[in-house]
Amino acid sequence: MKIDLHCHTTCSDGTLSVEELIDRAHTLQVDVLAITDHDDVRAFERASHYQKSQKRALRLIPGVEISTYWHSFEIHIVGLNFDPQHPVMQAFLKKQGQIRLERAAKIAEKLEKCGVPNILEKVNHMVGDGQITRSHFARVLVRDHGFKDMQSAFDKLLGKGKKAYVKPLWPSITEAVETIVSAGGKAVIAHPGHYGMSGKWMRRLINEFKQAGGIGFEVVHAKLSPAVNRQMALFANEYDLEASAGSDFHGPSRWCELGRKLALPEGVTPIWHDWELTSTQESLSQ
Ligand code: AMP
Ligand code: MN
Ligand code: MN
Ligand code: MN
Repeated sequence: MKIDLHCHTTCSDGTLSVEELIDRAHTLQVDVLAITDHDDVRAFERASHYQKSQKRALRLIPGVEISTYWHSFEIHIVGLNFDPQHPVMQAFLKKQGQIRLERAAKIAEKLEKCGVPNILEKVNHMVGDGQITRSHFARVLVRDHGFKDMQSAFDKLLGKGKKAYVKPLWPSITEAVETIVSAGGKAVIAHPGHYGMSGKWMRRLINEFKQAGGIGFEVVHAKLSPAVNRQMALFANEYDLEASAGSDFHGPSRWCELGRKLALPEGVTPIWHDWELTSTQESLSQ
């Protein structure tokens, strides 16, 4: 079974619309998909609606990727299989959206001082009704201001500690995890291998996360090496965490594809072990 529990659409910083993403997942024969936009759950309803009109066998799991702040790390917490309409979740995400808007205005002010005028208008136009992210700023910097790629826009201006970096006012890990759990879902530490943490910090992170009610660890992340993924599997087993897997697909590229290279290493407990992953027939008749 092809299972991908981490990807993005134009509801945040993905470049494909919900419908385009679903078409792609279908073509690539993905069986189970969670769309996990940054601080946004609207993709699930749109995707479910589109699915029904298409009568395709693709099981959709509600998802989100929540930004949190922890000891000057920006830790992403993925939520899976919860009620996207739950009032606690809805109120929480409304606040996240507000934090994003306020941070974006400050980023634009800083960019103005760096000689990049009036970027907010262009960024807003690109964002449409999605959540505003630094990726959008990076794309405009590439498109209109001579940056060679998004990475260099992050390296020179948008990344942590750079000239246009704004310290975000994200909530704590505990708040994010409790929100996901209140809405009936499982909380997962997203791409743990990405944070460049020592083992000591990773253990602190996992302990705090578990104390808040978190139970998942994104053991397989398509952008990390198999060696790092194996190391993450060791952490998952040591701390009795359920293993998740995701491509973190943001749009077509040479390096990343939906559902690709996501097999879990031997010996971990898949996060979907107690989900009813309905058969093709059932999901078609829903
Ligand atoms: P935000 O949540 O608004 O802070 O934006 C973070 C998003 O920017 C991440 O989810 C990535 O998709 C993207 N991002 C972060 N760092 C880089 C980078 N170095 N190059 C390209 N994209 C990046
Ligand atoms: Mn992103
Ligand atoms: Mn992330
Ligand atoms: Mn992501």
